[in-house]
Amino acid sequence: MTEEKQKVVIIGGGIAGLTAAFYLQKQIHEHNLPIEIKLIEASHRLGGKMQTVIRDGFIIERGPDSFLARKTSMVRLAKEVGMDDQLVHNSTGKSYVLVNEKLHSMPGGSIMGIPTQIGPFLTTGLFSIPGKLRAAADFILPRSESGKDQSLGEFFRRRLGDEVVENLIEPLLSGIYAGDIDQLSLMSTFPQFYEVEQKYRSLIVGMKKATPSQPKKTESKENTKGAFLTFKTGLQSFAEAIESNIAPESILKGHRVEKITKSNQKYEIYLNNGETIQADSIIAATPHQITQGMFSDYRFFDPFKSVPSTSVATVALAFPKEAIKKDIDGTGFVVSRNSDYSITACTWTHKKWAHSTPKGKVLLRCYVGRAGDETIVDLSDDQIIKIVLDDLKKTMDITLNPDFAIVSRWKNSMPQYMVGHKQRLATILEHVKEELPGVFLAGASYGGVGVPDCIDQGEAAVQNVLEYFKKKTPLKEAVQ
Ligand code: FAD
Repeated sequence: MTEEKQKVVIIGGGIAGLTAAFYLQKQIHEHNLPIEIKLIEASHRLGGKMQTVIRDGFIIERGPDSFLARKTSMVRLAKEVGMDDQLVHNSTGKSYVLVNEKLHSMPGGSIMGIPTQIGPFLTTGLFSIPGKLRAAADFILPRSESGKDQSLGEFFRRRLGDEVVENLIEPLLSGIYAGDIDQLSLMSTFPQFYEVEQKYRSLIVGMKKATPSQPKKTESKENTKGAFLTFKTGLQSFAEAIESNIAPESILKGHRVEKITKSNQKYEIYLNNGETIQADSIIAATPHQITQGMFSDYRFFDPFKSVPSTSVATVALAFPKEAIKKDIDGTGFVVSRNSDYSITACTWTHKKWAHSTPKGKVLLRCYVGRAGDETIVDLSDDQIIKIVLDDLKKTMDITLNPDFAIVSRWKNSMPQYMVGHKQRLATILEHVKEELPGVFLAGASYGGVGVPDCIDQGEAAVQNVLEYFKKKTPLKEAVQ
């Protein structure tokens, strides 16, 4: 009996959509499923925010540069597409926080800014004595109200005081989301801190207990692997490897989805070239504003309109080694908001990722733009480069102009998980389930912004699609 194939359309070829296409195709092949896939991507390349420039022997990431090694889905996918031999850990080294024009080394034993060792915390010049005493209140303060979301700022300010938050925690945490910690949801960004507080009451005591002990000082540096991984050939090469494992006829690049409507049991997908594609199931792996626009007939997506995304830019500067007069031991620094700087962070990439830089050269990668301070992203390349260089010269002894600089703008790119994000999303997903059966959402706007989080969501969406088809008669036998 010939069975009519079910058609799954995946919209958006960033890492979430690519992952979904790859794992769905794998399921189809392994279980001989009567399903066909179409991955539709608006631009002419796949990978979304994963973009690498290879120039003069430098490997320069425009967007993400690495991922957390402990999030295993990325390594698993790398193995699937034959890229695991290209994985490389970062070099470990000192990192700094710039407060009031001065670089302070990160106090030993601090985890995401939370002190877990008393000695380095007492001796650091990062905080005043009253600031340190205030942080010690964490030992006696009660737990947060159980189950209630709150902002990261509210949580940490209450436990450790404003000074520790502003000089250490805010520059570290807000860097990940380019967000305002007084608006970002604790439960959707770092629920582990809430859990530690609920379990141990004191965050300092809890983080100490919950964290595996640091390697002993006597252990050689080579044995101390960095917590991050990337690909020697750049993150874009990972996207390309996934793409090369997906059947070319399943991929449609350079076509933007403009609108989606439902008729009977099927979906009509309208493209910008006037074509229409039908689908039985859809994985929308696009940013939330785009998803809302595609489903504009469905008002329950409207809350996405008020979820902001911050604009940022990365600026990579390549120098000859002699341009930097005094080497600072370490891999980079983050900048506190109370410093008169426009850059929010700088990685000494040639040290953190030695493979990225030819011998005799230096590669610095800076960030500009964060919640409430995004206008800089709209300046010209030359203006941004000048601002970044002026900032860097306040901290580092730079005597020559860069050989070249690459500015990468990411407009409205960092979704902000505001307080109540989980609940807001859950309500929307309830409506989707009810009114748009067979439609699933994946990607950075929803269940985590890190590249591995997006992979997890792509995989989960595939499971959801298969579950959905399982309930539909034609596929029942095949998918079981
Ligand atoms: P995207 O990569 O945004 O992909 C969405 C795709 O949908 C795009 O290709 C887009 O062209 C396409 N699309 C949009 N509209 C349509 C349409 N109408 N029709 C068809 N296609 C459409 N994470 C880390 O883990 N580590 C890092 O070091 C890190 N650094 C980062 C640095 C920067 C500067 C940025 C911006 C992000 C960083 N992130 C990092 C976060 C991470 O890169 C992203 O969250 C992740 O790559 C998003 O993947 P995605 O598939 O959800 O979305």
